[in-house]
Amino acid sequence: MMADILIIGAGISGSVLAERYANSGKKVLILEKRDHIAGNCYDYIDDNGILVSKYGAHLFHTNFEDVWEYVNRFSNWYPWEHKVLAKVDGQLVNIPININTVNSIFNLNIQNEEEMKQWLEENRVEIDNPSNGEEAVISKVGTVLYEKMFRHYTKKQWDKYPEELDASVLNRIPVRTNTDDRYFSDKYQALPLGGYTQLFENLLNHPNIEVRLNTDYFDVKETIGGFEQIFYTGPIDRFFSFKHSVEHQLEYRSINFVSETVDKEFFQENSVVNYPGMEVNFTRIVEYKHFGNQKSDKTTIVKEYTTDEGEPYYPVLNDKNRAIYQKYKLEAEKHPQIHFVGRLANYKYFNMDEAFKNALDLFDTLENKIQTRHEL
Ligand code: UDP
Repeated sequence: MMADILIIGAGISGSVLAERYANSGKKVLILEKRDHIAGNCYDYIDDNGILVSKYGAHLFHTNFEDVWEYVNRFSNWYPWEHKVLAKVDGQLVNIPININTVNSIFNLNIQNEEEMKQWLEENRVEIDNPSNGEEAVISKVGTVLYEKMFRHYTKKQWDKYPEELDASVLNRIPVRTNTDDRYFSDKYQALPLGGYTQLFENLLNHPNIEVRLNTDYFDVKETIGGFEQIFYTGPIDRFFSFKHSVEHQLEYRSINFVSETVDKEFFQENSVVNYPGMEVNFTRIVEYKHFGNQKSDKTTIVKEYTTDEGEPYYPVLNDKNRAIYQKYKLEAEKHPQIHFVGRLANYKYFNMDEAFKNALDLFDTLENKIQTRHEL
């Protein structure tokens, strides 16, 4: 098939752009390096009959009305308010930190928001403009909770202590002055009935879209051409042959997912249990059965070990990496017909809904621009 649009990567950004262009009458070719679509959202039914996510739990949450409306066109969704427990001093406590967390860890009896605010005021460290992850946390909850819940978890997750990371990384986790134990506060919180892979199948199910799996763009780029536009969703440094990574690599973190079958109905009381201490090397254990209240005699648990090796999942946000990324960004701006989209190409810690939003907005911007050009 001769295509008008080339898309590299069949994750959220690539699949949304493919759907948008296909529906506007363009022919779209997607090249996907892996043997499946859906990027890191990919899920499947495992040997225990449980829907599991290959690349870690994906919890959809958004305040964007247009994104919510859009994703509902391609899947039915069931409400799912994600909760996380953390194992601290041998007991399971709520994270994000709320009244119950403080009561459990410090054996207190805080009763209301007023008292919780007072506790935080007495324990937090006064810092005007927190400039890194450590300052961000201790300025909100103080040093004891920082040590118990954030310092070592972050070291395991990033191989850096919070002071070596942007404040924004740790600020993803709010602090609550009530007993709300939901991980997110967004208006819409849901999971796709039938899983994410099915959602992506529906996005890509269009006669104008051809998906080529097991195809690395860099292996075939000399043999293809003639596209109106190209959308690249892979790591930005790889696109430019790592030319600005001579002294320092642009860093990414990957995860080694170690799956186990446990021969009992449930292994843990919640879908996700975080291990913020040093007693184990993994960051968390996900028990997939909890999502959608799935039934099976056995249960699948997955321990997550973050590593430098393997496919890049997370950009590592700090000044050093941002400086390297800026060089690539300037390089990218010299190629206006190539659009760099998504987490890896923008080196940003996008949530799923932000990835949807950016792809939808990019399409609208480009198409409006094109219309304006026609009008002229
Ligand atoms: N974090 C932590 N302890 C926790 C949970 C999170 O220290 O129990 C920190 C850690 O640095 C983590 C960041 O907060 O990388 C953001 O957490 P989030 O759950 O958003 O990470 P993700 O689910 O994207 O891996």
